[in-house]
Amino acid sequence: MTERPPVPPLPLMGGCACGAVRYRVTARPHAVNACHCKDCQRLAGADAAIFLHLDTPAVTLAQGEIAFYRRTADSGRLIDVARCAACGTRLWHAPLAVPELTLISAGTLDDSGWAIPTSHIWLKRANGTMPPADDTLRYDESPTDRRILWDRFAELYPA
Ligand SMILES: [Zn+2]
Ligand SMILES: [Zn+2]
Repeated sequence: MTERPPVPPLPLMGGCACGAVRYRVTARPHAVNACHCKDCQRLAGADAAIFLHLDTPAVTLAQGEIAFYRRTADSGRLIDVARCAACGTRLWHAPLAVPELTLISAGTLDDSGWAIPTSHIWLKRANGTMPPADDTLRYDESPTDRRILWDRFAELYPA
């Protein structure tokens, strides 16, 4: 089994590269998911982007100004990507069809060391430079129900 440090005490704090934006997370995440789809590769500049799944009310802006970029996913769904208005760091995104869900870029957390993905999706696009840990869920594409990802997270990061 992969060694996984526990989720740190709440709130979790994070921010952008220039320091203008700071945010606060006040509830446990539902998942730490690595997405290898081409859009996430572009937006992350890497083989995958890693996101925390969070209830939208648990994510609050503590300081700074956010700029939104609205993109259309391959599925046709619209997604608002939140970036620091000053430095452009991608902080989180929110699918318009699922307003109760906000996905934070794990690398923007002040302490991201504990956030080892518990699932990897769109592995058919992966190039192998971010191999999944041995206990993760793996999908060639995306599961139809994101709760499958949440269940694995709950198993690997018990409350
Ligand atoms: Zn910034
Ligand atoms: Zn993706």
